Amino acid sequence: MSDYPGQPAAVVFTRGCNFYCPWCHNPCLVDPARYVPEVPLGEVLRFLEQRRRLLGAVVVSGGEPTLQADLLDFLRQLRRMGYKTKLDTNGSRPDVLRRVLGEGLVDCLAVDYKAPLRLYREWVHASNPGAVLESLCLALNLPGGSVRTTVVPCLHTPEVMEEMRADLRAAGFDVATGTREWVLQEFRRRGELLLATPRAVQRL
Ligand code: SF4
Repeated sequence: MSDYPGQPAAVVFTRGCNFYCPWCHNPCLVDPARYVPEVPLGEVLRFLEQRRRLLGAVVVSGGEPTLQADLLDFLRQLRRMGYKTKLDTNGSRPDVLRRVLGEGLVDCLAVDYKAPLRLYREWVHASNPGAVLESLCLALNLPGGSVRTTVVPCLHTPEVMEEMRADLRAAGFDVATGTREWVLQEFRRRGELLLATPRAVQRL
């Protein structure tokens, strides 16, 4: 009930990610050594078809969904079933997001904003922080777009948060008066984490 605004939703988690956030709560979708077994696509579609009257929306999350070769096909099928759709992404593939938005395949887009852009390589092993900036801009210009940050107290100090706010301003988003949401989620230590770098997170 809390994953899509105003609609009961199913969440489809995709396996595989090109980031490595130490505070990730889904290591079984990120670390190949801990992967959970895949559910066949046909089974997922059957599940959603059978619950069409109970559910209003489908959220595609991960892992990182934009790495899936059949993401657009899957979203098209959800549309054909009449579902509202939301995509959660780490923002690493703005090229894919442009195609998704160009075809009008999602109603809501949530882009993670994990750190000041200068720290992306160090904190989450991102190879191209500039791509994340492009994705943030796409979300900020979209009705139904939002930007989300998981705040890890030992990393996201007030100074770091201020730097992130400055990055958003540079991307054209006025945090004070912006009409799009910058959602801050409190980090809660529960379950397994990836826990690689940075060192500060290893104290969690
Ligand atoms: S939190 Fe980071 S590592 Fe985990 S799925 Fe999201 S982007 Fe990937």
